[in-house]
Amino acid sequence: MSGRPESLFPLFGELAGLKGVGRKTVRHYTALGIETPRDLAFLLPHSGVNRRLRATIRDVQAPDVVTVEVEVGNHLPPRQRGRPYRILVRDSQQEFMLVFFHARGEYLQTLLPTGQRRLVSGKVELFDSIAQMVHPDHVLRPEEADTLPFYEPIYPLSAGLTQRAVQRSVTAALERCPDLAEWIDPRLKAQMGWPDWKAAVHQVHAPQSAADLANTHPARQRLAYDELLAHQLTLALARAERKRAAGVETRGDGRLVSKVLGALPFAPTGAQQRAIAEITADMASAQRMNRLLQGDVGSGKTLVAMAALLTAAEAGGQGVLMAPTEILARQHFEGLAPMAASAGVRIELLTGRDKGRERARKLGDLAGGQIDILIGTHAVFQKDVAFSDLRLAVIDEQHRFGVAQRMALGEKGARAHVLVMTATPIPRSLALAQYGDMDLSLLDEKPPGRVPVVTSLASTERLDEVVAHLARAVAEGRQCYWVCPLVEESESVTLTAAQSRFETLRAALGEGVVGLVHGQLPPAEKDAAMADFVAARTRVLVATTVIEVGVNVPNATIMVIERAESFGLAQLHQLRGRVGRGSGASTCLLLYDPPLGEAAARRLKLMRDTEDGFRIAEEDLAMRGSGDVIGTAQSGLPRFRLADIERQANLMAIAQSDARKLLADDPQLLSPRGQAARVLLWLMERDKAIRLIRVG
Ligand code: ADP
Ligand code: MG
Repeated sequence: MSGRPESLFPLFGELAGLKGVGRKTVRHYTALGIETPRDLAFLLPHSGVNRRLRATIRDVQAPDVVTVEVEVGNHLPPRQRGRPYRILVRDSQQEFMLVFFHARGEYLQTLLPTGQRRLVSGKVELFDSIAQMVHPDHVLRPEEADTLPFYEPIYPLSAGLTQRAVQRSVTAALERCPDLAEWIDPRLKAQMGWPDWKAAVHQVHAPQSAADLANTHPARQRLAYDELLAHQLTLALARAERKRAAGVETRGDGRLVSKVLGALPFAPTGAQQRAIAEITADMASAQRMNRLLQGDVGSGKTLVAMAALLTAAEAGGQGVLMAPTEILARQHFEGLAPMAASAGVRIELLTGRDKGRERARKLGDLAGGQIDILIGTHAVFQKDVAFSDLRLAVIDEQHRFGVAQRMALGEKGARAHVLVMTATPIPRSLALAQYGDMDLSLLDEKPPGRVPVVTSLASTERLDEVVAHLARAVAEGRQCYWVCPLVEESESVTLTAAQSRFETLRAALGEGVVGLVHGQLPPAEKDAAMADFVAARTRVLVATTVIEVGVNVPNATIMVIERAESFGLAQLHQLRGRVGRGSGASTCLLLYDPPLGEAAARRLKLMRDTEDGFRIAEEDLAMRGSGDVIGTAQSGLPRFRLADIERQANLMAIAQSDARKLLADDPQLLSPRGQAARVLLWLMERDKAIRLIRVG
């Protein structure tokens, strides 16, 4: 099947071809992102209105939506401009008023002729204790009563569209929905009590009560599952594709790894050992590794990476570790160099700052195989960087990389195994959505002996007190990060804030005690500032969020975050993770500008109450919705239109294992169910995935 299956043609036709959809309406739909009948079929009503016919409005608790049959009485046209047009009506027991603003009398005379019976449906309100219905939603002849659904679905609208118009378009789109062969595992479908696809699409548009709108409803669940399954099939196809790409069997003999681990003053945690075992087993296989190492800040991912890099070296190959920032790359290099030295392997650092002869020399040694381990920034993926025998690429802290970027990286070729490390403790459902194409190793255990970080909140009004405290702590030999907020609108304001904080702290604490680091600093100055802080020459490091990821200075035990309310929870968690890394007691002070809004207060209190990154991530998701947790735009996290991954999280895991199993049993999707799954991919516009299906 090389193109879209014919059965789906009607769903992907032009909107203008639908009954009752004019050119103007099409424009309104376009504004809503609705371009095909399929999009209309997938436009879910978000609420509904009970339109059940009643005898009278008498017992209604106004305001409420009511449907009654009335006899139309006298029309009362407005006596002055700007006043409403009113029509007296009477149901079986009570008189009330229909009210219209800016209405044409002629039109109302035909719609509601005096003396005739009509069904009216709309919101009844009390105005000067007289019941009235302003602009009824529906006015029907009694014989049309059965065209009004008992329970009317309500759709998200944009200006210019009425509910009636959307309902008509949706109905027309539904007529185009074909019967489709089932792609869901029959056992799962039976167990869940899910309807067929076509029935499900019809059901979601014909709720009978509020309960039918819940995302636990079988029809809604089914459609959500379809969407998640299509997504997971895409990821599984990408994964299978990558696995087919042969990796180089990279089997270490453990000689270097045990030398390095043996020289450490501590033993690896159980979780680290497990992860190292999983990774080295993957590397030893002829299939290319594509693994995610997920572990909260401070869980010791670097050591795991080093063990993997040494394994590559043991096997006579090379490894590369890529960090997102210069500072981090340098820090990794400095931390790992002594280990490499003790194992007798050559490690080098390559960043955008390497220029000229120095860079040429490194590139030469890399291509010649004299360098075993390369640490660097994005620079290591530049075109002219060639390895002699690259076996492993480790990408650190790359939660800003999405599926698409990873696919691009894979296409770059190289048969190297890939290990991605992330410290973003995202909820499982999101992890599966974002990293479902990878295998997962989890560092769910922190190195022993960590002292919890005590977190407290304070208003910036108490800044003087805070600085006085800080002076005492510094006198006791402690070190502190002082984080200034990123001002979104303006980089220069951000810098000014950091600069002026640097100056006030320097004035209070003394010359030479305070350092400053931010993104705009010339590289050499940045390095010098970091180095001064690492060596404890400076005691306080004023910084913008450049220190967010990965930086490790165990002696720094105080973290002050200014305008903490302007940061996201994940970011605060990352920042706080910079302290509590040594054996000393650590504190984190969240400074806020009063007054603190309710939502912000909740977020900061959550930070105060827990250090559990996963709990913070789950609550963050619940508070903000998935789009914001990792910043959809940059994360590569797909947007789902049918699935609600916060509230239907369990479906994601099922979809993943189901998708992987389907592909394992039928890699070319040729079985009847496989063919149906192809249709699903087209239906969900996963055209890219279809190209990944193995041909022949
Ligand atoms: P992250 O997972 O945030 O990247 P790091 O790899 O930077 O964490 O490790 C944080 C700190 O913990 C480092 O100082 C490291 O030396 C130390 N560390 C790592 N593993 C252990 C362990 N098993 N026992 C004690 N300390 C460890
Ligand atoms: Mg790290």
